[in-house]
Amino acid sequence: MAVVKVLVEGYAREGNGFYEATCTTVLIEDSGKKIVVDPGCNKDLLLLALKKEGLTPNDIDLIFLTHYHVDHVLNIMLFSGKDILDGNTIYRGDKEFSFKGKIPGTNVEIIETPGHAHEHATPLVKTEKGVIAIAGDLWWWEDGKQKTDKESLLSLKDPFVKNKSALLKSRKLILEKSDYVIPGHGKMFKVDK
Ligand SMILES: [Zn+2]
Repeated sequence: MAVVKVLVEGYAREGNGFYEATCTTVLIEDSGKKIVVDPGCNKDLLLLALKKEGLTPNDIDLIFLTHYHVDHVLNIMLFSGKDILDGNTIYRGDKEFSFKGKIPGTNVEIIETPGHAHEHATPLVKTEKGVIAIAGDLWWWEDGKQKTDKESLLSLKDPFVKNKSALLKSRKLILEKSDYVIPGHGKMFKVDK
């Protein structure tokens, strides 16, 4: 069974004259591979979290990006030379390879979940506690505003949405398929069935 660990819990908040945010970064260990999902943009927090696991960026096999917003992707610079995956492509240097369904060599299923961004995709991981969706910005909250009853989850406003009806459809699909959700910014929550 795969193991999922939150390395960095994403935040989003007003600072003094600026906005500050980094996404939730997750480590998946499955089939002997270590996968970092959404490396975020806070380098110090990520390196510290890896160190606590006894890891450096070099121990990571591949990086999965739920979507391309800068607060989710900036730290890919730390993983130079590693494969980078989105919902359907493996990027290896200047080479691109298509894939469909599972991350090759693992049991991690990738579901296309457009809406917040056109390219948005969500890994589903089978673990001992159930299926965990690493849902990126299908849901994200500013600090202290998270609400996880079903109605709040489906009606949550997203100021950056690209396609509202696609986002709603993606949210419903992920709530159906998962037992726990790790959102893009905020705390992991259990899905109320
Ligand atoms: Zn985003």
